[in-house]
Amino acid sequence: MRPKTSAAWKSWCGFALVMATLILKIGSVYGETDFENGAIRLELLQTGHATQCDISCKSMVFERLWPENPNRYISPFDYGDFQVRVLRADDKKLLYKKGFDTLFTEYASTQPALDGTSAVFEMTVRIPKPKSPVIVVIDKRAKGGAWREHWSTPLNPADPNIQPVEKLNSNLEMVQHHTGGPPQQCVDLVFLAEGYTEKEKNKFVNDLAKMTNKLFEASPYKENKAKFNIVGVFGASNESGTDIPHRNVHRDTLFNTSFNTLGIQRYLLLESNHLIHRIASVAPYDHIIVLVNSTQYGGGSIRMDFCVTTTGYSTSPFVFIHELGHGLAYLADEYIGNVTYNGLYPEGIEPPDPNLTRELDATKIKWKSFLTDNVSIPTPLSNNPNPSRRIVGAFEGGGYLSKGIYRSEEKCWMGQGDSPFGFCIACEQGINDMIEYYTFTPAAGNH
Ligand SMILES: [Zn+2]
Repeated sequence: MRPKTSAAWKSWCGFALVMATLILKIGSVYGETDFENGAIRLELLQTGHATQCDISCKSMVFERLWPENPNRYISPFDYGDFQVRVLRADDKKLLYKKGFDTLFTEYASTQPALDGTSAVFEMTVRIPKPKSPVIVVIDKRAKGGAWREHWSTPLNPADPNIQPVEKLNSNLEMVQHHTGGPPQQCVDLVFLAEGYTEKEKNKFVNDLAKMTNKLFEASPYKENKAKFNIVGVFGASNESGTDIPHRNVHRDTLFNTSFNTLGIQRYLLLESNHLIHRIASVAPYDHIIVLVNSTQYGGGSIRMDFCVTTTGYSTSPFVFIHELGHGLAYLADEYIGNVTYNGLYPEGIEPPDPNLTRELDATKIKWKSFLTDNVSIPTPLSNNPNPSRRIVGAFEGGGYLSKGIYRSEEKCWMGQGDSPFGFCIACEQGINDMIEYYTFTPAAGNH
C-alpha cells in the first residue's frame, strides 16, 4: 500500500490496526474446528464446450484471513452451476460447501459451444484454511438439477507449493468507505476500480460513494446497513474507460473489461477472474464489485462470485443494484428474452433461484408465506403502471422465458427499472437470507 497521501496512509494504518485486532480476536473461534483463520484460493481453469468441461488447477494461494462466516461453513443454499466441497482426508467428513456460477456455463449454452468450439475460462474458489489435509471436490449440476462430482484434488495445507499471502502491491490503494463491524459478522463488499487512470482516483472515490449511497437507500439494504463493510481498492489503469468492441473501442485497463460479452452488446464483463480475486484479497471480501469508468449503459454478473457495472450512465446506480442482486443473492433475471444463452432453466426442473418457480401449488411456492390473500395462481397481470398496493402471487414469465416459469410480483428491479416497489418480495427475501448467511452469530441469538 503506497502512502501517496498522508490521509490515505493514515487510513491504511488504521485499517491494518483494526484488522490485526480482529484477527487476534477471532482466533479463538477456530479452536475446535477443522479450520484455522486464513483461506486458500484455488485458481482453476475450465476448458470445453457444450458437452465437455475439463477443470485444472493452475495455482493455489494463501489468504490472510477467512472473512466469511465461520458459523456457516456448510451453505444452507442449493445455489450454483457448480459447488465446492471440502472433505476431511481421513474420514471424508464434509467440512465446507458453497455453490457458485461461472462464465463457462453461460458460454456452454451459446451456439459456438453447441457447435463444439472449445474455450478456456478462469474460475476461482476459496476455502477456509484447513488445519490438516483435505480433499477439495468440485460438483457440477446435471441437467436434472442433481449434483454430480466432477473434479477433485487432495490439498495439504503444508504443501510448499501453495503461494504465500499476496503482498500489498505498491500500486494499490485502499479506500475505507463504510465499516459495519468485524468481517466475519458482516457482508464484506469490495469495490475494484477499472478504467480509472491515476488522475481519476478521486473520481473512483466519488463513484464508490454514489453507488453505495443509492444501495443503502434501497430495501432491504437500507435496513441492514450496519451489517455491511464497504471497501474500495484503487489500482490505476493506463487508459480511461473500457472496451466496446462493436464500436472498435479498445482500452488498456487493469482488468480488461469489455462490452459485448457472449455477443450481447450491453453485457459488460471480464475474463481476468484470477486477477480480480488476487487484488480483492488485500481486503476482507465476501463479494467483488468491479466499477467501470464508462458513461455507457451496461453491466454483468457471475453469481456468487462478482459483478460489474459502469458508473457514468444516468441509471448506473440502479444497474449496480440489479447486478448485485444477481451476484450476491443469486437472484435471477425476471425479464423475458433478450439474451443469447439458452436452456438455463430446463423444463420440469424447479430453479434454485429464490425469485423464480415452476410450482403452481400455492402451498409449495417458495414465497408462499407472502402470497396475497385469495390471489389467483397463476396470477393475471394487472397492467396498471402505478398500482397502489403490492399483489404477491405467481406471474408467468421470467428467467428469459415467457411460459411455464413464474415470479412473485408483476414488477421487480430484477425485471424492469420502473418497478414501483423496488425488489419483489421473493428478491427481498433472497437478499435477507444471504445477509443472514454472512452475518449469523450464535451469540447474537439470531438464526
Ligand atoms: Zn424480484
